[in-house]
Amino acid sequence: MRLLSFLSPTLILLLSICSLSAFASDSLLLSLRGEPAPGALMIGQVLPGVSVSLNGKSLRTTGEGFFVFGFGRDDNGAYALQLQDGDKKEMHEVVLQPREWNIQRVEGVPQETVTPPPERLARIRKEGALVSNARKTNSNRHDFLAPFVWPASGPITGVYGSQRFYNGEPKNPHYGVDIAAPTGSPVIAPAGGVVTLAHPDMFYSGGTLLIDHGFGISSTFIHLSKVLVKAGQEVKQGDLIAEVGASGRATGPHLDWRVNWYGERLDPQWFMSGVGVASVKAGERAASSDKLNESQK
Ligand SMILES: [Zn+2]
Repeated sequence: MRLLSFLSPTLILLLSICSLSAFASDSLLLSLRGEPAPGALMIGQVLPGVSVSLNGKSLRTTGEGFFVFGFGRDDNGAYALQLQDGDKKEMHEVVLQPREWNIQRVEGVPQETVTPPPERLARIRKEGALVSNARKTNSNRHDFLAPFVWPASGPITGVYGSQRFYNGEPKNPHYGVDIAAPTGSPVIAPAGGVVTLAHPDMFYSGGTLLIDHGFGISSTFIHLSKVLVKAGQEVKQGDLIAEVGASGRATGPHLDWRVNWYGERLDPQWFMSGVGVASVKAGERAASSDKLNESQK
């Protein structure tokens, strides 16, 4: 990657996409969508029956050979995508392009949510376990294959990966994309799925909703004022699922949308539209998801 450091980010992006799409006609890999980088969601397709693994860890495939994986914020370097069909083996190197993170200072959140009092710790731990269990859901749904739409409308006020300081104290990085909108604004399902967790008020995240889109891909919506669906309920893309709020550790009303691949936290903005978008509209499909679908043809 050092050799490429003098090139523009756009050119590096193009290079990495090209290197992944140039498969030989007899390759077991039919397509691989996504831009390999920290926070990226990648969707590939192999010939039916081909087994797929990433760095030795096997990935599930659909009947049509689709598979999905993602990279966390601090992942880097090269990953081996291994394919096997009987005696035929193939290896594709997936090289992550580096990303930089900004620093965001958030002032005015309730001090209790920055240094929680000891009597709150049991509650915090219990709620954390509910969320991580919901993200372990390993269903056979295929909703993640359809292009996602934005779940709310408004300016983007927080991005994935930024190092956060709350009331001056360094805390965990931010893992969602924040869309500012008045309390009560509609939140719609960015893709179909099943509700795996609906909680009216968690300590940090306030009104919290998780939707499983299949194969370990899930959406989390936090700081909600109202959750309008129940655990176990099936939702379609575009369904009204919640209302924007400012509950939990928040300074004002906004939707914080997170996407996971099991426990791995991904960047919703990266696979929706790339970085640098100033504001979004609920129900709108990102330009780049069309681009990603194009590269599949
Ligand atoms: Zn946020």
